[in-house]
Amino acid sequence: MGEFELIRRFFRQAQAEHSATGVLLGIGDDAALLDLPADQQLAVSVDTLVSGVHFPAKANAEDVAQRALRVNLSDLAAMGAEPLWFTLALTLPEVDEDWLRDFSRGLFAAAQQYGCTLVGGDTTTGPLSITLQVMGSVTRGQALRRDGAGVGDYILVTHYLGDGAAGLAAVEGRLSLAPPHDDYLRQRFYRPEPRLAEAQHIRALASAAIDISDGLAADLGHICAASDLAAQVYVEDLPLSPALLELGDIDQARRWALSGGDDYELCFTVPESHMAEVGLLIARGELRATVVGHMVTGVGVQCLLQGETFELDQTGYHHFQS
Ligand code: ADP
Ligand code: MG
Repeated sequence: MGEFELIRRFFRQAQAEHSATGVLLGIGDDAALLDLPADQQLAVSVDTLVSGVHFPAKANAEDVAQRALRVNLSDLAAMGAEPLWFTLALTLPEVDEDWLRDFSRGLFAAAQQYGCTLVGGDTTTGPLSITLQVMGSVTRGQALRRDGAGVGDYILVTHYLGDGAAGLAAVEGRLSLAPPHDDYLRQRFYRPEPRLAEAQHIRALASAAIDISDGLAADLGHICAASDLAAQVYVEDLPLSPALLELGDIDQARRWALSGGDDYELCFTVPESHMAEVGLLIARGELRATVVGHMVTGVGVQCLLQGETFELDQTGYHHFQS
């Protein structure tokens, strides 16, 4: 199968032909032609996944594709942008039709779920690697940046933290839980949910935002650095899932929540003046988020448990880490 046949079968045909927002010209010409309304700005983010580095070489192609697009869309959510289009640069060692079919199925299932259209790409031969570039729109001047946090702002996170790291441990066989928790954690790893709806709820209320890919402590650290402030995190308030609590090791669960990574939840800051509105969204069930700390003057992220410093880089024995 040649390059063009491959593109036609797995990437052009696989996508339901529909008049996607702003796509004047999609796959098939030298470049895509895309239209953005005049009051909107383009948010662009790109990520490369290398086989054997970012995912195991034997990983299920459908899972790889799902995770790749979801993780990219999480970056758009963190900017308060809504997904529109994406491109795919695929490097393949060989034409493996089974792999391509699975990859394509996972990719377009996620694309359809989140309303993002494939508008072009590149296909080359070499060691397996996947580059996705996502593009989204955000109303001019309304993007959620990392540098907007103020002193006294509340720090919130969406849903639960720590599931991503526990999910990775489950996937790698370092952790076993009874159903349904085991399945829940694996799903949390392979199908992270970009918090796009949550981002739209908080866009006019939050002062800064980031998505949590490397653990709350590290990613909140980026908000601190960009905003020239420090953060205090109340460890007892971290939202932990029933699956994580089922481990019976609250210390490990908290460490995963703070520094485990792979959660793709949003961390955002809200000025006191907007907290009543955020509280209302939470009370109405329209936003699942928890206050976990405050922005203060200074440098870095300080984690506190019952008022005492909670050291993160202690190298003690942890039950579930290999
Ligand atoms: P060019 O030589 O002009 O770069 P290509 O032969 O690389 O064009 O690609 C032909 C068309 O197919 C282009 O519209 C390109 O965007 C699209 N395309 C190539 N690879 C992919 C892919 N993996 N997924 C989606 N579209 C692709
Ligand atoms: Mg090309």
